[in-house]
Order: sequence, then C-alpha cells, then structure tokens
Amino acid sequence: MLKRNDVLLVLGILLTVVILYIVRGLVMSGASSDYIEVRLDGKLIAEYSLDEDREEVIYAPDGGYNILTIRDGKVAVKEADCPDKHCVNKGFVSGQNETIICLPNRLVIKLCVDSDKTGITPDVMAQ
Ligand SMILES: [Zn+2]
Repeated sequence: MLKRNDVLLVLGILLTVVILYIVRGLVMSGASSDYIEVRLDGKLIAEYSLDEDREEVIYAPDGGYNILTIRDGKVAVKEADCPDKHCVNKGFVSGQNETIICLPNRLVIKLCVDSDKTGITPDVMAQ
C-alpha cells in the first residue's frame, strides 16, 4: 500500500518531469528557429527571424518595392509594384528552403533553418 507521502512524492516527480519537458521544448524550439534571407540581385541584403511578426519594405535598385510580412512563422509578399504579382499571389510560405521570387524586382526571399547559417557567413563577409 502506498502511503500519502509516497503518492505526493510520485506526483512531485511527475510534475518536475513534465515541467522539464516543457522548458526543454521551449529552449529547443528557440534554438532551431527559422529565418529568411532576402536577396536583391543575388546579394544578401537582410535576414529576418521568423519568430517575430514584422513588416519590411524592400526597395529594388531600379525603384521597385516589395512589402514583406512575417506572421506566425510564415512569410509572404503583401504588396509589390511588379507587373506580374507572382510574388504576392504566392501567399504565405513556411516550408524549409521555400522561396518567394519576384523576377521584375530581382528579389529572392528564402526560408532557412539556423543550421544553414554557417554556410552563408563567409559569403556575407566577402561583400
Ligand atoms: Zn513580384
């Protein structure tokens, strides 16, 4: 027969395990957070974390613009002055290595995971 104290002890241990799991889950999700690379004319001009909802206006060299929106870990081009509007029509994307391309403005938005990051650092330094 379990005594009352034993039951409390078991419950306490279970609770601790659950809390540890939740904390670990939060830490892990933070570490593997996704981000986007924004390239204009092939050059990396910005990186934005997908953890934070935001809106950015990207100006193309020839005066065009794209407004990109990050929401709930997804990214979309909300508005653009390009004639074809392919980038806007693509809507929200969130998959790894997905891209939104706006050919008229020579804009490429690529979704990346943190583990890719080391690969692009030398590239950025060289510019
Ligand atoms: Zn476009």
